[in-house]
Parts: sequence; C-alpha cells; structure tokens
Amino acid sequence: MFKMVAGGGWAMFKDLTVSDLRDESRLAGWAEVLARPASETEAAELVRHCAGRGLGLTAQGARTGLVGAAVPFGGWVVSSGALAGPTGLGLRPDGNLELTVRPGYSLAELRRDLNRRRFDWAGPPPGDPRARGALAERPWFWPPDPSQETATLGGLASTKAGGPGALKFGSVARHIAGLRVILADGRPREFRRGAGSSLARGRLKMPAGPSLDLNQAALGLDPGAEALDIFIGGQGMFGLITELTLLLRPRPAATWGLALFFGDESGAAAFLDQARGLAPDALTALDYLDEAALAAVAELKNLAAKLREIPDPPAGARAMVQVELQAGTEAEVEEAAGLLMAAAEAAGGDLDQSWALAGDEMEKLRLFRHAVPEALNGRLDQLRLKDPEVLKTGGDMTWPGFTPAEALARFRADLAAAGLAAVVFGHVGAGGPWHVNFLPEDEYQRTRARGLLWNWLLLARAQGGRLFQEHGVGKTKRDLFQACEAPAVKSAWRAVKAILDPGGLFNPGNMFAGEDGP
Ligand SMILES: Cc1cc2nc3c(=O)[nH]c(=O)nc-3n(C[C@H](O)[C@H](O)[C@H](O)COP(=O)(O)OP(=O)(O)OC[C@H]3O[C@@H](n4cnc5c(N)ncnc54)[C@H](O)[C@@H]3O)c2cc1C
Repeated sequence: MFKMVAGGGWAMFKDLTVSDLRDESRLAGWAEVLARPASETEAAELVRHCAGRGLGLTAQGARTGLVGAAVPFGGWVVSSGALAGPTGLGLRPDGNLELTVRPGYSLAELRRDLNRRRFDWAGPPPGDPRARGALAERPWFWPPDPSQETATLGGLASTKAGGPGALKFGSVARHIAGLRVILADGRPREFRRGAGSSLARGRLKMPAGPSLDLNQAALGLDPGAEALDIFIGGQGMFGLITELTLLLRPRPAATWGLALFFGDESGAAAFLDQARGLAPDALTALDYLDEAALAAVAELKNLAAKLREIPDPPAGARAMVQVELQAGTEAEVEEAAGLLMAAAEAAGGDLDQSWALAGDEMEKLRLFRHAVPEALNGRLDQLRLKDPEVLKTGGDMTWPGFTPAEALARFRADLAAAGLAAVVFGHVGAGGPWHVNFLPEDEYQRTRARGLLWNWLLLARAQGGRLFQEHGVGKTKRDLFQACEAPAVKSAWRAVKAILDPGGLFNPGNMFAGEDGP
C-alpha cells in the first residue's frame, strides 16, 4: 500500500497486480492505479479527482464477472474491497427486514451472517431494537441465489445477477430496496424503491440537466422499474454504488432439492416441458445439465475436495435435472416432490438413482451445479497455456418462444450442422438463461462458435427474449451486442449514458467502444 496523494485521507492505493487487471472471462486490461476507498467520502473524492482530470474510472468488486465488465481499459480502478460489511438493519411496515450493506460485502459473508443471525457491526448495533428482535426470532434469507459466493453485493447489483432461484424470485433487482450511488459530478445520491422516482413515470431526470423519456422495455427493465433500476444491471457505467439496502424474507420452513438423472436428453427434455406446471407454488428452481456438463464436473472432482463428498451420478446418466422446492410445511414440499418425481419416472428418469436432499444438505446440489462453470474455466486455463488469446465463447440468452425440449433440439441440430461440441446447461424453468459454452481450440472453431452464438442471439431477439440475461455485455460481448441487439435497445442505453455520464467517466469500454459511445 502507498499513499498517492498527500492529505485528505487518500491512503487508499495499492500496487496493481496482474490479477487486478482481469476477471473470470480472462480478458486482461490496463490501468494506472488501483484505489481502495474506505468511506463514501473518500470514494466521492476519488470520483471528482478522475472526473476533473478526464481519467476513466472502472469499478471492481470481486472480479468474478464473466464478460470483462470490471476489467479496466485505461484510467484508474476503484475497488470496493475496503467498503465492506453491513451498516444497518431495519424493520419494514410489512414485518420484513431490510439490511443495509456496503458494496464490498460478499454473498458468502451475507449468507454466513444470516445463517448465524448475527452481524459484525463496525460500531454499536445500529437501528431499531425491534428489527434486531425480529432477526433473533426466526431465520431469514435473501432470495437471490447466484452460485459464485465470493461475488460482492456491488457486483451482483451491477450485473443484475440471477441464479437458479430466478424462476421464482427473479433477479437481484426485486430484492434491492435502495442504493446510494456517487454520480459523475462526484455527489452521492440516495435512491429508494417506492419513493416515486421519475423513472416510475417513464422519464429520467438526474441530476440537474435535461430529462428524457426512456424506453423501459428496451432497457430490459421490469414494469414499474424506478430510477435505481438503471444502476442495477448498469455494469457500473452510470455511477459508483456505495451502499445497498437488501430486502430480507423469512426463510421458508421446508426446502428440498432433487437431482433427477436420465439416460438420454430427450427424456430429460420431456420432463422439463411439463415440470413447471406441476408444482408452480413450490418450484423455485429447475436447472438442466447435459452429458458434457456432467463430464466437466467429474473432471473437477479430482481437484476439489468438497465435490468429492457428493456421490457420482449413476453410470449411464446422460442428463441431469436439478429441482428446488420451497414451502411452508414439509407435507407441501413432499407432495410437490412426489408429483415431479412421478413425472420424471414417466419420462424415463431413473428414480432409484436420483438424489433428494433437504435443508442445508441442498448446498451439495448447488455445489454440483456451480462446478460446471468452474470446471469450464479450468479447461479454459489449460487451453490458454497453448494460446493465451483464447477466451470462452458462451451465451446466456433466453428463448421465451421455445419449450425446453424445442430449445435443446435446436441446440443439437445447430451444433451437429456446425460440427461443434458445447456444454449446455441453464436455468430452464424461466425459459433461460441457456448457458451454452464453447471452448474453441483454434481459429476455425472460434469463428464457427461465434457464428452460432450470433444466430442464437438473433433468435432470442426475434422471440422477444433477452440476449444477455445473466452476465451482461461488458467488453467480451460488446461486438455481439452491437451486431445482434435491436437498435432501440442500443439507443436506449446510449441515452442513459448521455444523461448520467456524458463525459464517459465510469467503466469506459463497457457495452460501447469509444467510437460508439455517447
Ligand atoms: C463459476 C462462476 C459461477 C457464476 N455463477 C453465476 C450465477 O449463478 N449467476 C450470475 O448472475 N452470475 C454468476 N457468475 C458471474 C459473477 O459471479 C457475477 O457477475 C457477479 O455479479 C460479479 O460480482 P463481482 O463482485 O465479482 O463483480 P465484478 O466482476 O468485480 O464486477 C462486475 C460488474 O459490477 C461493477 N461493479 C462492481 N462493484 C461496483 C460498485 N460498487 N459500483 C458500481 N459498479 C460496480 C463492475 O464495474 C462490473 O461492471 C458466476 C461466475 C463464475 C466465475
């Protein structure tokens, strides 16, 4: 650590290392310095410093993002590493709790603190004693369940992260009640959901300056979106988040997970097509893993001790469906599980070899699913030893016009026609995102994989789906965004950038290259 600027509490700079310049996409960037402000005041000072000198400022959480959104393309980096921990707990009028945290607090820390029902406050316990009483009374949870636990809350908000549970709970957006954000003028602003912000009426006017009618649909915002929703999923392009208020819910009494194995993809597809309608109230997640995904987990098992505690899929399993169920009572969840298992058996699933897990044991199922992208990143690193230019090519689009069986049939037909292999998995219950990952070994395969992805994105667009549902555009998908996204979507994002960050201060290079920027 060294002090970059004398006085004013600027002891917040750290020597840049190679890993500070990359994220999990493996894209590498460059920057002058990395700053770690420890307070909102320091962060605001930093923003003003960069704005005043025309320096770009790239925000970083834990750099687990998959599209290079936190990779700096010049300028300075601001890390939320020293802006961590919870800062407040409140009781809402509806009896639920809200927890205020700083952006560097990680999902793993949040889950740990909720499990033990205790927070390590920096000073005396804040807030209303009634809120602390409610916390002690019963278990609580934050519904979004992205599987990368080291991710920070700032990063999760900025990517509008999802997870298997998005089927029932949607993305993180629904579970964030407020944000504090430093805008390009260096001033922090507070945004509260329900405060009647101008975006709720379709106009965005912040801060001083022209206001604009925004095309909410083109921005992929849910009906009723408000001003804070611009920053949720904004990939750090519009401001620096310094605080988030999370909505907590009482943890359901009964949670079950099922791992259902099938001897072929068509059986799994037939099951997936009907599963969603069978237990709509209890079903929280419906995930698919194909044979190549199962093989990837098996590979990682030799390296990861935690994974070895999980049994191997049965011999002959060619496809796996993971189901998660939640209900108020064990009887309800058991009834839902019975319906789904009967349907799986009718579709050719092997029930004798399936797994059923309850409560905390379900972590094993999540670990298994999380091992797929982990394993693919491991393979990518092997390939990059031979060719450091190789990056993963993968999609996270939704196809609302297709049933899961139709989507899988389309993937297989296109892959066969292109003579390519891919790993197919995804949160299929909500129509996606479908994660199709290629690890192209040479330029020929890379071009063909990119071409397939291009077609699939256009198909998503034609079906009214999302082209970049879970991970965003960042830098590695900027060309696909430019080529495949609807003109109305591109101009809607450009308009927001022009209002909030006309000087191009925040996260230069995300979504728009310099020449396409505002
Ligand atoms: C193995 C694996 C599994 C994954 N599984 C999932 C999954 O299930 N679901 C999912 O959605 N994603 C998943 N991801 C992707 C990744 O974990 C998420 O994108 C996560 O939200 C990134 O958080 P982070 O703290 O690492 O952010 P970073 O990667 O550091 O940054 C991501 C974006 O957030 C911005 N940002 C960070 N902090 C701030 C701030 N304070 N203010 C403004 N902008 C900020 C950055 O500028 C960047 O644009 C997975 C990744 C891996 C490697």
